[in-house]
Amino acid sequence: MNDLYTRHRNVLPDWLALYYDEPLEITHGEGRYVWDSAGNRYLDFFGGILTTMTAHALPEVTKAVSEQAGRIIHSSTLYLNRPMVELAERIAQLSGVPDARVFFTTSGTEANDTALLLATAYRRSNTVLAMRNSYHGRSFSAVGITGNRSWSPTSLSPLQTLYVHGGVRTRGPFAALDDRAFIEACVEDLKDILGHTRPPAALIAEPIQGVGGFTSPPDGLYAAFRDVLKEHGILWIADEVQTGWGRTGDHFWGWQAHARSGPPDMVTFAKGIGNGASIGGVIARAEIMNCLDANSISTFGGTQITMAAGLANLAYLVEHDLQGNARRVGGLLIERLRGVAAQLPGVREVRGRGLMIGVELVRPGTDEADPQAASAVLEAAREGGLLIGKGGGHNTSALRIAPPLSLTVAEAEEGATILERALRSAY
Ligand code: PLP
Repeated sequence: MNDLYTRHRNVLPDWLALYYDEPLEITHGEGRYVWDSAGNRYLDFFGGILTTMTAHALPEVTKAVSEQAGRIIHSSTLYLNRPMVELAERIAQLSGVPDARVFFTTSGTEANDTALLLATAYRRSNTVLAMRNSYHGRSFSAVGITGNRSWSPTSLSPLQTLYVHGGVRTRGPFAALDDRAFIEACVEDLKDILGHTRPPAALIAEPIQGVGGFTSPPDGLYAAFRDVLKEHGILWIADEVQTGWGRTGDHFWGWQAHARSGPPDMVTFAKGIGNGASIGGVIARAEIMNCLDANSISTFGGTQITMAAGLANLAYLVEHDLQGNARRVGGLLIERLRGVAAQLPGVREVRGRGLMIGVELVRPGTDEADPQAASAVLEAAREGGLLIGKGGGHNTSALRIAPPLSLTVAEAEEGATILERALRSAY
């Protein structure tokens, strides 16, 4: 047995969300595969944790990082550095946000925290709208607005948060409605909330909920919300930590599925941009970004070593049209998994777009979430040589599939075959 399996309990917190009865120690990776300390190879259908966006050990990123490390890893946020300015320029260009300014952080949590800081300062309000079942990170304020109870420990939030319907369609009072009626019902819910509260600073929302189980709200939902928000001057923050950079195939950003509304006031990002290097950030219109009346800094935000990774990774993503690959290969994978679902009564639905695919499990013959089955499938898939994720609301009953965007058709087929076997073993 791997010695880390017992040693980690003496030094790491109990609440660390480690996967598997016997947690894995990953030692290296290449392309879409990783290896553990016992030499087992796994097809990585979770792309790290949606962090390995292009591929493990991508030579272009490795080279850029090594060359940068040879010059300087980090100088100081008190000085300019070229990779930071160049990555900010590139991201601003790709963002669709007019007159965009970019502030780099080191995680998605810190990015959302910053967006909340900006929104509350700009609007002079500490009331925030968030979505039910959402996840925005683990800092005091990010966890305080997180709507997913399994990730928000009981603690007092510094912000007053009100939760809006719409992020999840699988269950809940509006589940039976068609797209249009669903959107109308959610808009009514939003209006009702606004009638009962002090003017909120912002609505923060993931275009597709990540930790919440890769739920898929109907296209246009946030455009409809946006119309209402605009009337009240409320900002719209799109948390693109999981959905950005072409992951959803049809769009470069998740918010573009709601394009009628134009870009959000702020976009937060992290995870995939560095292909594993810790980059997060906020994109905001200048007037919002510049509203702070005090100095601010992130010591490691925008540091040279991560910016070099981000520049090389983003160039590769765009030049190789990995968004297009996510659309094509993701489409095939969704169809393949829907074929499996049709034969297994425990698989309630296969949802998602691009390479962000959720598989919702229930107790056969019921509509009850089945978290035990989800854990059993995860274990069986690992034994078969496949790593996937899980997620969902209070019951973690959705499997989450989010491989690196360079996934080939053959690898998609290989993963689907292992997953099918794991699903059949669980039911
Ligand atoms: N926002 C979303 C949508 C996320 O999925 C996550 C992490 O899973 C975060 C924010 C927090 O990001 P980080 O873990 O990098 O702090």
